[in-house]
Amino acid sequence: MTCLECNKKLSYLDHRASMDLFQAELCAAHRSRLELLIRKGQIPAEAVMLYYGLREAGIRPMLAWWDGKKTVDLALSRVKLNIEIDRGLEAMTHEQAMHELEQTMHSFRNGFTTIRIPHFLIRNHLRETVVNVLGIMEGLKANIKVV
Ligand SMILES: [Zn+2]
Repeated sequence: MTCLECNKKLSYLDHRASMDLFQAELCAAHRSRLELLIRKGQIPAEAVMLYYGLREAGIRPMLAWWDGKKTVDLALSRVKLNIEIDRGLEAMTHEQAMHELEQTMHSFRNGFTTIRIPHFLIRNHLRETVVNVLGIMEGLKANIKVV
């Protein structure tokens, strides 16, 4: 049990706290940096779970990436893929839904595809979610080559 970021050895309590929060091994220092982002509402905890799930698969996404207009939960710039976590906290108003659609349009104009993944899917089925994201990346890579 060592921190994925700094290789520091984790105590059992740090291990437990980190696995409960993010399903990933992080020391107290690295964990609290991410907790701060979450508390500020920048990203949901599931973004961190998916981030480390993808890292485990050899992918290095960008977490809480500022694209010039908004913070994207996760971005894979090599294949121009934005991943937003659907937080599903409350029903969306039509203004919020339209705002989201407009943001997707802006990203698309910049060549970025946006996918939205429900938070519970990441929380409860992280591995399968990662496999599917990898598949989407493969598909995007193939399309980039064709163009
Ligand atoms: Zn660390």
